[in-house]
Amino acid sequence: MSHERPLILLTNDDGPHSEGLRVLAERLQSLGELFLVVPATEVSACSHHITMHSPLHPSRLPLKGWPGFVVNGTPSDCVKLAILELLTRRPDLILSGINPGSNLGTDILYSGTVAAAGEGALVGIPSIAVSLDCARKRVGPEDFMPAAEFALSVARDLLSHPLPKGTFLNVNVPHGVPGALKPVVTRQGGSGYRESYDKITDPRGRVHYWLAGEMVYETNGPGSDCDAVRSGCISVTPLQYDLTNHEFMKNMEQWPCLEA
Ligand code: MN
Repeated sequence: MSHERPLILLTNDDGPHSEGLRVLAERLQSLGELFLVVPATEVSACSHHITMHSPLHPSRLPLKGWPGFVVNGTPSDCVKLAILELLTRRPDLILSGINPGSNLGTDILYSGTVAAAGEGALVGIPSIAVSLDCARKRVGPEDFMPAAEFALSVARDLLSHPLPKGTFLNVNVPHGVPGALKPVVTRQGGSGYRESYDKITDPRGRVHYWLAGEMVYETNGPGSDCDAVRSGCISVTPLQYDLTNHEFMKNMEQWPCLEA
């Protein structure tokens, strides 16, 4: 048995200067050896995008005291490159975040934070995405503390309780709730928005569309991730990337076009 300290890869979709990343690193350093590989600039909402048509070049992480790299790519690029090239051994854990802004319901399909943890799960490494349910940019280091604290407990559990194959965790922490936060296991909710575009005409007469809309959370019932966070609880959802509708497969086999 190895007596090495666990190797923990940290990443995010907000770049190296994110407060959420720094607070997470500071809180997790007691648990193991940290290595940070993050996008060079903010690439939020890039989902599982990977860079295929241009080269990636890592450069030294501009954060004093932390080992790692910034990469001119996405969170998924960072995880792949870290595992295949930059790390000297396979990480025991991957943490992504802490994202300033929740990743709940169908938002997780667009999230770079969640995709980084998903990338880890695809290669069989226990992975956690951590997000803080806050209005973006209006948060300081102390706001991330409860999320970092909970991330540490989950990370500690993951080192002794393996996840099923292909499974990873999506953690969302409410903001500004006084006292101890109650964690609950949740399912992924539905869409949290009523979407629309703001239509803008520029001085040269060209029309532009800017994605807007408002949060609604109407489609989320009890037990959902959105519901938990709105009730002031920490939401923990086990996610997986098998998008197959297994129940419906049998039904589809009755369709004339699919009959043998
Ligand atoms: Mn982000």
